[in-house]
Amino acid sequence: MNDMMRELFDLSGRVALVTGANTGLGQAIAIALAEAGADIAVAGRSDPGDTAAAVRALGRRFLALEADLSQSSSLSHLADQTVATLGRLDILVNNAGVIRRADAFDVDEANWDEVLDTNLKSLFFLSQAAARHMLATGGKIINIASLLSFQGGIRVPAYAASKSAVAGLTHALANEWAQRGINVNAIAPGYFETNNTAALRSDEARAPQILARIPAGRWGRPTDLAGAAVFLASRASDYVHGVVLPVDGGWLAR
Ligand code: NAP
Repeated sequence: MNDMMRELFDLSGRVALVTGANTGLGQAIAIALAEAGADIAVAGRSDPGDTAAAVRALGRRFLALEADLSQSSSLSHLADQTVATLGRLDILVNNAGVIRRADAFDVDEANWDEVLDTNLKSLFFLSQAAARHMLATGGKIINIASLLSFQGGIRVPAYAASKSAVAGLTHALANEWAQRGINVNAIAPGYFETNNTAALRSDEARAPQILARIPAGRWGRPTDLAGAAVFLASRASDYVHGVVLPVDGGWLAR
């Protein structure tokens, strides 16, 4: 690879804030960004010890911030603390999310609010807080959407509503901030092997149906998101705005 191409994807000197990075997709994305050169801050409610060890082993700085992202009030301190401790904020990955399975008739207000507040409301207000810092330097916001940004899913109405709204919000923020030097895009993962899909993968009826529909013939592994995440975080995507990029083994093409 020549120097120009390497520079396009190089994140050296950049600082990324990733939510929900103690496990699953967020952990894989945080490590991928560190592998590309970025220092990493993570925000969440569980111990990110394994992620910290992996990031530090790569020689990058690591900052852990505690946050319950079902509470959308005062998220601005996460962006402020990242800048105060690591010196800047270039990349925000809004990854944290919850899924709650129930028939639409059984969804109560607490279920609805938890999913919408975590997956959508916190994502918006954290993006707003991060973008205030990015106005000075430029920045990249990557939202983790879903196939249910495009489809309705089965027994996950609040989740489908939240993820469809994440796609809409990605478009809306991209329209507003593209001229301010901030790229807002999303990744729509297909079916990945994480805690989020543990119930689905052990469902003897649904699991084989899902696998049979994936053209790639396997579930996604968290590291399958590394390339898309680094692309959307790097100079290589400077003219890419408002895209919801499926990384789904071909599911949507079926
Ligand atoms: P996961 O292993 O369940 O990870 C979810 C992350 O979000 C965890 O770090 C979790 O923290 C965090 N989180 C949830 N609620 C939170 C809260 N109130 N405050 C702080 N952190 C909170 O699932 P995943 O698959 O990696 O999910 C990551 C993202 O990808 C989610 O937005 C999910 O909707 C999306 N996604 C996943 C798939 C898939 O197939 N796996 C497909 C499409 C989209 P705890 O560990 O403390 O719960």
